[in-house]
Amino acid sequence: MTSTVPNAVEHADAQQPPITMFGPDFPYAYDDFLAHPAGLGQIPATEHGTEVAVIGGGLSGIVAAYELMKMGLKPVVYEADQIGGRLRTVGFDGCDESLTAEMGAMRFPPSSTALQHYIDLVGLQTRSFPNPLAEATPSTVVDLKGESHYAETIADLPQVYRDVAEAWNRCLEEGADFSDMNRALRERDVPRIREIWSRLVEKLDNQTFYGFLCDSEAFKSFRHREIFGQVGFGTGGWDTDFPNSILEILRVVYTEADDHHRGICRRLPAAAAAPLGA
Ligand SMILES: Cc1cc2nc3c(=O)[nH]c(=O)nc-3n(C[C@H](O)[C@H](O)[C@H](O)COP(=O)(O)OP(=O)(O)OC[C@H]3O[C@@H](n4cnc5c(N)ncnc54)[C@H](O)[C@@H]3O)c2cc1C
Repeated sequence: MTSTVPNAVEHADAQQPPITMFGPDFPYAYDDFLAHPAGLGQIPATEHGTEVAVIGGGLSGIVAAYELMKMGLKPVVYEADQIGGRLRTVGFDGCDESLTAEMGAMRFPPSSTALQHYIDLVGLQTRSFPNPLAEATPSTVVDLKGESHYAETIADLPQVYRDVAEAWNRCLEEGADFSDMNRALRERDVPRIREIWSRLVEKLDNQTFYGFLCDSEAFKSFRHREIFGQVGFGTGGWDTDFPNSILEILRVVYTEADDHHRGICRRLPAAAAAPLGA
């Protein structure tokens, strides 16, 4: 759990199948497609060697080119700037080479199993990302309205932070059938996922994140909503998302996209591009 405020009720038991990007309104097993021994598709042998232009050498373009090459085609990647696109690591002039900064994506959830497929394919290592209060984070300082708290785990924070965590869990359970959806997603039970999600879309289609909190008995206190918005969960405060649709937030929460992050950087597109000669 990487959250300052835990992201949702912890149901995961090691025996259960994992949460993946098999999401509530996109229940497709991309990881199974990718792992299929026959590959993603086949091209008639007469067409092998045909050149195919791929515009853009970001991760999407490089992965597309890689898969086209595996099918026997000849991808030609056109990149206007740098291979890697928004996955970009830069160094600092005059500093040790090991000192770098990420200019784009730097953390990914283990639930992104399709991404993990390519990370494994090129043999890259990832490591736990130091999100607030994550196990990999030696310490976290929460500073709210001039009051600072130093914490190694959530247990080190004042009780009100744990109350907020509890309120978020209750709110998800009562307002968004969290446990049921979690189970259905783990089991890839599409009829059940559709049933729950259809009901939620009807109920919450025009509801904002903030409205969802306000309507919950668990978040009646403004102070709790304020702490939740500023300290948040996973990567930190989420109050910039308060005006957004709660359905967008639920997609993130159900698929654990904002939790248990692992870190990696530009090395992925560079490693994937190597066999392409890019
Ligand atoms: C600051 C920042 C932080 C982020 N953090 C995260 C994160 O932590 N986790 C996460 O999952 N995502 C994160 N993202 C998003 C993630 O980086 C992108 O979703 C992902 O890198 C997009 O990859 P892509 O290949 O689809 O597009 P891009 O990486 O944008 O690649 C598109 C490529 O196409 C090239 N191009 C465009 N037009 C043309 C043209 N006409 N001809 C030739 N080339 C062209 C561009 O130069 C570029 O290299 C972050 C993004 C930013 C900017």
